[in-house]
Amino acid sequence: MSTGSDLLPAEDARARALALASPLPVEWVRLEEALGRALGADVLAQRTLPPWDNSAMDGYAVRSADLSGPPPVRLAVGEIIHAGQTPRSELRPGVCARIMTGAPLPAGADAVVMQERTRPLQGAEGPAVEILEAVSAGNFVRPRGEDARAGEPLLGRGTPLGIPELGLITAQGLLTVPVPRRPRVAILSTGDELCRADEAPEGRIVDTNAPSLALAVARAGGLPTLLGIARDTQEEVSARLAEAQGFDVVLTSAGVSVGERDFVKASLQEQGVEMNFWRVAIKPGKPLAVGRKGRTLYFGLPGNPTSSLVTFELFVRPVLRRLLGHSDVEPPRVAGRLDGELRKAPGLAHYIRVAASWREGELWARPLATQTSGALRSAASATHLLHFPREASSLAHGGHVVLLPVSWSA
Ligand code: AMP
Ligand code: MG
Repeated sequence: MSTGSDLLPAEDARARALALASPLPVEWVRLEEALGRALGADVLAQRTLPPWDNSAMDGYAVRSADLSGPPPVRLAVGEIIHAGQTPRSELRPGVCARIMTGAPLPAGADAVVMQERTRPLQGAEGPAVEILEAVSAGNFVRPRGEDARAGEPLLGRGTPLGIPELGLITAQGLLTVPVPRRPRVAILSTGDELCRADEAPEGRIVDTNAPSLALAVARAGGLPTLLGIARDTQEEVSARLAEAQGFDVVLTSAGVSVGERDFVKASLQEQGVEMNFWRVAIKPGKPLAVGRKGRTLYFGLPGNPTSSLVTFELFVRPVLRRLLGHSDVEPPRVAGRLDGELRKAPGLAHYIRVAASWREGELWARPLATQTSGALRSAASATHLLHFPREASSLAHGGHVVLLPVSWSA
């Protein structure tokens, strides 16, 4: 059995897989189609937003120089400016304006005093107010151009489009946005023992990898197509792979190890796929074949249900993100503490399924009882994969650990 020294470290394997991929051509989509995708081109602002300095509070727009004396300071109140209105006149010294949140500041005003720091008065010459505190210029003012400046970059290529980013784009009056198109991903299961969920499973096991991978692909932003089940012969695996021409990514599961009926690698090679690497120093998921033919990337994922999900997470998802144009493609990581003890032989990095929860200000990761890769249940209720480094042989209770949130959890 391999000790791991002849296998590729996970980080190198990911770097090599990523080097095979680049962002797909850009399409223009409506904003609701763009959420979670990345910008395919720089977007320049066409409008300056907000278009004018405006008030962040209900209160009084003032000239801060009027408040240089010790408080309270009495000011006359001129006009009232509501949001949506345009100020009629410039503020004269000794005068303030009643102003509501979002309303433009009148010319001459450079600060806002919140209503709670004032006391209204009725002076003989009309309404007046006592300002109970000194404020400096800029107090509670939202400056013009805080969100965007016409002609300047608004968001750069590769920026992930979350809800605020789409809001910034909406405020520019843009209805569509350029994003790399979604990768088309073909998924092929291989194995004589497999049947579909709607077939009688007499002596067979139901193919769960293909539907699970399809869900993972869709969640990552790809467009999955199921190619069905190939029996364990080189002819059949090759024939089914030949049907997968034209996809951006082809995922196969199983048949990629060293068993007598493991034909996936030979079939990929027969189809002209240039293999980039095979076998990674990780558990679960050691047998993993990655290659390319033309523009199509091929991943021969392991057959064990949890191994296929873990390798999807570590290698396929980052590649899908690169195809989708994300500038940050590495699996996300968070710091946590180990709630338990772990041991292993050095050589392979282990990705331990854990359930992590927040306790006393820290994220505590409890390894799940089963860590077999053959049972899908061992992945159920996992929130993260705990990285047990390649050369380490033990991790103590309470130790600081790196956790990778899994995209397959609920
Ligand atoms: P293999 O890599 O072909 O040796 O398969 C490893 C293990 O994964 C075997 O126990 C298979 O039965 C199981 N397996 C392979 N493909 C699937 C699949 N599509 N769905 C569920 N289990 C699978
Ligand atoms: Mg098999």
